[in-house]
Amino acid sequence: MAEENQGTSESKSQIENKPTTNNNNKKQNPNRKPNPNRKPTNEKGTATKPNPNKNKNRNRYKRQPTPVDENLKSFVQKNQEGHKKRLNPHYKLDLNSNAKIRITPLGGLGEIGGNITVFETEKEAILVDVGMSFPDEDMHGVDILVPDFSYIREIRKKIVAVIITHAHEDHIGAMPYLYKEMQFPIYATPLPLAMIGNKFDEHHIKEARRHFNPVEKRKIYQIGEDFEIEWMHMTHSIIDSSSLAITTNAGTIIHTGDFKIDHTPVDGYTADLHRLAYYGDKGVLCLLSDSTNSYNSLPTPSELNVGPALDRVFAKAEGRILLSTFSSNIHRVYQAIQYGIKYGRKICVIGRSMERNIEIAMQYDYIKFPKNIFVEPDEVSHMNDKDVLIVTTGSQGEPSSALFRMSIGEHRHIKIKPTDLIVLSSRAIPGNEGSISGMLNHLQKAGAKVASDKDIHVSGHASIEEQKLMLRLTNPKFFLPVHGEYNHVMRHKDTGIMCGVPERNILLMTDGEQIEIAPKFMRKVKTVKTGKTYIDNQNNHQIEDDIVLDRQKLASDGIVMIVAQVDGQTSKMLAKPRVTTFGIVADKQDKYFAKEMEDVLEHFLLHMKEHLISNTRALENDLRQIVRKHIYRKMKKYPLIVPNVFVQ
Ligand SMILES: [Zn+2]
Repeated sequence: MAEENQGTSESKSQIENKPTTNNNNKKQNPNRKPNPNRKPTNEKGTATKPNPNKNKNRNRYKRQPTPVDENLKSFVQKNQEGHKKRLNPHYKLDLNSNAKIRITPLGGLGEIGGNITVFETEKEAILVDVGMSFPDEDMHGVDILVPDFSYIREIRKKIVAVIITHAHEDHIGAMPYLYKEMQFPIYATPLPLAMIGNKFDEHHIKEARRHFNPVEKRKIYQIGEDFEIEWMHMTHSIIDSSSLAITTNAGTIIHTGDFKIDHTPVDGYTADLHRLAYYGDKGVLCLLSDSTNSYNSLPTPSELNVGPALDRVFAKAEGRILLSTFSSNIHRVYQAIQYGIKYGRKICVIGRSMERNIEIAMQYDYIKFPKNIFVEPDEVSHMNDKDVLIVTTGSQGEPSSALFRMSIGEHRHIKIKPTDLIVLSSRAIPGNEGSISGMLNHLQKAGAKVASDKDIHVSGHASIEEQKLMLRLTNPKFFLPVHGEYNHVMRHKDTGIMCGVPERNILLMTDGEQIEIAPKFMRKVKTVKTGKTYIDNQNNHQIEDDIVLDRQKLASDGIVMIVAQVDGQTSKMLAKPRVTTFGIVADKQDKYFAKEMEDVLEHFLLHMKEHLISNTRALENDLRQIVRKHIYRKMKKYPLIVPNVFVQ
């Protein structure tokens, strides 16, 4: 819990100290003599002990100090009062209100991606973003991770809407999985809705589109009875992004979504700093702000800066250009195509998500191009190499992507040539470095050149200076750094403190922690269930946890299968057991290992409890334990053990 009057007391004392400090810094004039009749005074006019150095300073002027103009002084006080009112959000909140709001991140904290946050009053709740994330390497056969919906199920009846900030996968990617199970009204700007609509179609839940409620920025929407929400335009690495102002009886919460402050965005639509400032001036209860780039001390460059870099790289290309970037970065693709056109190239778009996103952006007039600049992949081989710009997916080296398939010579239409120039206009998402490097190896083995200029990519997230601007504009009483691993939110906390938020008014949340905020306090109240659901992208189905655990075990420790026939009367084996292993012993040792297992089995049967022979399941369980112990003793491994005992 924390309560705070922030900011003003410190600055006031600094101002009061100033004259003393200045006096001490004044140069001494050795020609001036001390005036023994004058008593030194401090600012309040009371006498202080004589200080020989101070006297020398004072006597330099040989006159009484200018009398204080009380009227001027009263204006200094008025301005100080003004600063206090302006800067201290505490006084702008309704401190008599008993209203509270609870915030629970179900994903996106302690991790990058999978963003989903619950905002909850006594009677109602909203979800902000429903994103997915990517699996670790040891989650075999898992393509994406979807947040655990347990808590959403629990409060299902309270939920009045799903609110979307922008159309990145880590903010909308889990929507179809949620909507297959439960449906709520969806409020978002057009691009996120168009992209969610595509997902619904792919997942055969077209009818879920009926929950769409497109919104206009700068309008305040009443959602349910308890929430008023405004979408404020934001600049980010995808167009049509928003920050949210969520107002309840407890006050206004600003949720930045993902953002950077781009003063020269490609479409000219700058971040709506005015609305942020409006709320900041009115009084903000709490700020939730993007922590992704908390460590970057240099301002994030404008998207427009990429243009000249692409121009320079394209100018040098001797053959075809293959440019790959995140397919959702419409402005990047737009700039690449523009410079392609500048050099007289036709544009070939390859890759499902790239084709789909460019199509949506053009359908909804976010970008405009004449239709005749585009060519089909099968036309490329008939064209002059210098006339082609291929815009494609695969900037993360994903094995199923178009560029990766080209790199290993498996793409139907495009074979890499030594004159090709590859431009990766992206950064490696942490964890993808290996696959990108692998793909670059393939491309370079095929002879292609790879442009590695640093300035052909800029980030979509706020650096420290932009985070400061957000903190100062919104001027929140409480601050919750979000979107990032623990070290990112930790660093963002420091920036918050620098910008006047007292340390005790900042909480570092992790997924599942529920925070309660009222005008007078903020506190952690409980922890709810969170986790990840594994999804196989081939069929869009969930993979149960135990399947992934079995796969991990198989991958790291292998499997042993034992099939034995046992005489029910004598408890002796009727024949040699059949032993099959994978990932445990080399083929040439198979026989030796089988013999070993036979001995273990024989010994087990000889010493087992009598009643066990009539209970096959218990018998197999016991046998599994014995084999497990034996293998661990010898090999320090815990393989999957599958005993099949037939009692006859
Ligand atoms: Zn984003």
